[in-house]
Amino acid sequence: MEIFEGKSIYKGTVIGKIFYYTKGQNQVKRERITDVQAEIARFEAARAVAQEQLQALYDKAVIEVGETNAMIFEVHSMLLEDEDYNDSILNIITGEEMNAEYAVATTGDNFSVMFSQMEDEYFRARSADIKDISERLIRVLQNAGNDINLFTEPVILVAEDLAPSETVQLDKSKLLSFVTKYGSSNSHTAILARTMNLPSLIGVEINEKWNGKQAIIDGNEGKIIIEPDEETLSFYQAIVTKESERKELLKNLKGQPNTTKDGKTIQLFANIGNVSDVANVLANDAGGIGLFRSEFLYLEKNDYPTEEEQFQVYKTVAQNMAGKKVVIRTLDIGADKQASYFQLDQEENPAMGYRAVRICLDRVEVFKTQLRALFRASAYGNISIMVPMIISLKEVLEVKRIVAEVKEELRADGIAFKDVELGIMIETPAAVMISDILAKEVDFFSIGTNDLTQYTLAIDRQNPKLDKIYDAHHEAILRMIKMVIENGHSGGCWVGICGELGADTALTETFIQMGIDELSVSPSFVLPVRKAIREATGK
Ligand code: PEP
Ligand code: MG
Repeated sequence: MEIFEGKSIYKGTVIGKIFYYTKGQNQVKRERITDVQAEIARFEAARAVAQEQLQALYDKAVIEVGETNAMIFEVHSMLLEDEDYNDSILNIITGEEMNAEYAVATTGDNFSVMFSQMEDEYFRARSADIKDISERLIRVLQNAGNDINLFTEPVILVAEDLAPSETVQLDKSKLLSFVTKYGSSNSHTAILARTMNLPSLIGVEINEKWNGKQAIIDGNEGKIIIEPDEETLSFYQAIVTKESERKELLKNLKGQPNTTKDGKTIQLFANIGNVSDVANVLANDAGGIGLFRSEFLYLEKNDYPTEEEQFQVYKTVAQNMAGKKVVIRTLDIGADKQASYFQLDQEENPAMGYRAVRICLDRVEVFKTQLRALFRASAYGNISIMVPMIISLKEVLEVKRIVAEVKEELRADGIAFKDVELGIMIETPAAVMISDILAKEVDFFSIGTNDLTQYTLAIDRQNPKLDKIYDAHHEAILRMIKMVIENGHSGGCWVGICGELGADTALTETFIQMGIDELSVSPSFVLPVRKAIREATGK
């Protein structure tokens, strides 16, 4: 038995046989040609076939992973028509009188090196796409098939790397997982894998000798276990059984509306802290993301994440969610979430201290950097912005002023963005009490019951000694929720709950009867809550 580590891009456990995929090395010969026109015609024909293949891949991907994720094949299709790329190929055929395969291979190599050296991250990422389309053209020219679907039984596919076009071609019914040496968690291939719900690993020191061997993919811990011993195997078999029981529940409820017995439908979203959680959101069939705790992005780093870094993360989440709502909460640092580079003072009472929007309104540049990244990412999906820890109208107006400034700056820079919904968290008793006033200023409320309970009951949520009296079912909390919903609705806001209480199925019916519009819960609670909604009556 051998264990290798990697980075999990989708959680889950899988036991199966390994199929080691070696890319067909397209041996390209350099041959002199005599009929230049015939060679150009051969190239043009190959390009047309490649375009047809890309269209077919696009159509397949739209059905399987949604329009946004399928866009990669549109990018390939555009690259295939790129004037410089085509001119270079034609120049080699006509100028050097060389065969089309050689002209494509040389151009592909040159262009992919050129792209890989570019400053802009977007263009650098296109390097792999250029390689991909060039290999496609060569395969067509050589009449070579692609051997990626050679396996006949469900397998764990192990490969050095997989191009998005290879991932989407895979016959999913025969695929348990994939494991690669290269690839990044934000690569298109990883995005597609997540969207296809395949427990998969990247960054693994793979070995050709694994071909045909039995293995376990532990996507929860990021491990691949080759030829597991009996004990390990039975340990993981038990996990697989548990996971498949969950999947059964998932199967029955997946695709079902969140509608009560008497026909009231509410939104059921999921909470995340990281891009990698998106897979879980999709696997559990949440209708959107109701809370993305963006501060984790800051906590993972030793310095402020740049606008570009944040933009990439928000964009990836928006794209992965393919048009579904993604509520991103602005920085909620401070209290229990400390990052040393913020150099926040030690406080006597951090929960009631310098945190969240208080810091953002004080360190406006930090706030603006995040807002710019959020607005830029809004062009790629359906993003809403939500501000935590609000206590006053003044704060909301100040936030709106800064948001307007950021939008103005982006417009001046000619940067595209969408009109996003702006909402606030209702997690302080003060916000509850003035929710009628706040509702006129924002598009939505999301009730943060974790903090609301802490501040209302005066119980430090971090203190284990107080756990037994931390009563989120306290009548005070329930009355506050009711009040927020009523005030929100009167002011034209939709109202949700994103604190842990939202997942408490003992209260699902109560919330619906109060008029809640949305519940956002941990991904694994989506289906149990859906079940509770479907068993409830809304009146
Ligand atoms: C809350 O306070 O209920 C909430 C959702 O936010 P957090 O738990 O991140 O403070
Ligand atoms: Mg909170």
